[in-house]
Parts: sequence; structure tokens; C-alpha cells
Amino acid sequence: MYQEPIFLQPVMQERIWGGQKLHKLFGYDSSYEKTGEAWAISAHTHGPSKILNGPLQGKTLLDAWENYGELFNKLPDSDEAYPLLIKILDANDDLSVQVHPDDTYAREVEHEAYGKTECWYVLDADPGAELILGHHAETKEELHQMIDQGEWDELLKRVPVTKGDFVHVPSGTIHAIGKGIVILETQQSSDITYRVYDYDRVDSNGNKRELHLQKAKEVTTVPHVDNTINPTEEVQEDLRIEKLIVSEYFSVYRWDLQGHVTKLLDKDFLQISVIEGEGTITVGEKEFTLVKGANFILPSGLQKYELEGNVEFIVSHPSTNQIG
Ligand code: ZN
Repeated sequence: MYQEPIFLQPVMQERIWGGQKLHKLFGYDSSYEKTGEAWAISAHTHGPSKILNGPLQGKTLLDAWENYGELFNKLPDSDEAYPLLIKILDANDDLSVQVHPDDTYAREVEHEAYGKTECWYVLDADPGAELILGHHAETKEELHQMIDQGEWDELLKRVPVTKGDFVHVPSGTIHAIGKGIVILETQQSSDITYRVYDYDRVDSNGNKRELHLQKAKEVTTVPHVDNTINPTEEVQEDLRIEKLIVSEYFSVYRWDLQGHVTKLLDKDFLQISVIEGEGTITVGEKEFTLVKGANFILPSGLQKYELEGNVEFIVSHPSTNQIG
């Protein structure tokens, strides 16, 4: 059906901690003053991306997944939800301290398809920018006590980050993206967040956002386990491929192209975001321009494609579906 990439229009999401950088850095148009998230590749019901080209132009990625499963090499009878979600986040202010459930908890308690394991590629960070990742409690009792008494400085682990860092955040990890950080997030397609602490902030109506302490306590991993990332590297023609992670849910790569490469699609489908530079992708006779901020899917059956230019990409695919 598609012998071409499927380009997608990101869905802007207003957030109290958001800013203007998604427009400045990626040219995304938004009607909000504080845009926190661009759902770049999304088939989630809370904000599915729209298809910009080809026979399904104007339809959503969710519609494509449900009715044109062959594009993803989906089994005909499968009622699985689209597995992944790609977001770009602008933390103009600190995000709430939060935690996400795993698949089992998400299904049993929330009746949702997936829990949320996520990972972040840091696209931009102000000097001194920090994340919260994990906690110092040794037992559940200690965790509950420290949360109840609001001992945030003692409880939360802080990690400095700079541009180009990569962070894995399995479900059950307490975390927060700090002020001054822009990230590309590859995550399971889930929108379940349990807020632990929101700095006692209020929205434009003077209301605090809801916390979810009981559920947060239930799903938090104790003690915290640090995740070490060991990226590996490979070169194909003028393309340097950095494999950032192969997890249970997704595989994520950074591709750095300085020239030309001919590639074969050897996965069910690929999700690709252009994070720097410009170039082209050619499939058969058709050439498409690639600019910073473009997001697309290489659908199943596309086979051979060529990339040209000086371009940096974040590429991902579901681990569960991989063919080779
Ligand atoms: Zn999160």
C-alpha cells in the first residue's frame, strides 16, 4: 500500500511546565502559550498523530493501525494496541515527580493496554540541568514514611544531564524531568501517570494538580535499581548507528548520517524522528525532504531506501515484533 515513508503531524499538548521551545527548535505550531509535549508518533486515543502523505493522508496513525495492520506487519486477528509512543518534551519548568505502573498493574487496576516503561534522549539541556531518577529508601515502609512526611530532598535521587545523554526509566521508577531540559521520549503507548509530588504548584485557576500517592506507593520499585546503559556502535557506509537500548519493549538507536547510505528495512516497521540537520529519503523514484522535527514511519513491505545528507535521527521499533 505504501511504498513511501508515512510522515506524521505531531499533536501538541498544553502543560503547566511547558514553554515555547518546541516551536523554536522544531518549528511546531501550537496554539498554547505553554506547550509541554509534542506527541510526534502517536496512535494513542488521547492524541493520535495525523498522516500527512500518501493514500491514508488525513487519517490518524490510530486508524492506520486498526484498519491497515499490514503496514505494521500486524497479525490479522490481533486486538493489541499500537505498542509505542514518541514524544518530544520541553521542560520549561520542573515536571511533577511521578511513577508509572507496569503492564500487569495497568491492565488489572486501570484496564489499560500497557504500563509505561520509557527512555529519554536529551536533545538540549541548560547548564546545571538535573533529572530526578530513583530514590534513597531501602524498604517500602521507609518509602511510605518519607512520602507521607514530604522528605523530598532526602528521598529523591538527582542526576545531572547534558545534551546527548540517554536515560532508561523502567516502570516503577520514581522520576521527573527538570527545568531546562528538552528530550525525545520513546515509551510504551500509555498515558497513566501517578503523581507523587508537584512542588505545591497551582494552575491558572489556582488549583493544585491531583496526586496519586496510594497507587504511586504500590507501583514504586524498592529499593531503586540503577540502570546502566551500554550503547554499541556500528558503521554502514556514511551512517554511524549507535544502539542506545534493546529493552523488553523497544529498541532505540541514534543514527548519524554524514553523506549517503542504502538500507533495507529488516524490521516490521521503523519509527524515525529527525533531531538535527537536513537531507532526503528516497524510495524507488520518490524523494522526500527531511528537516529537523520531521517524524515518520517506514512501513512493512517498503524494503529498500536511501538516505542522504547531514542528518541525525532517533530510530525505534517494538522489540516484541522484531523479525531479525
Ligand atoms: Zn514519566
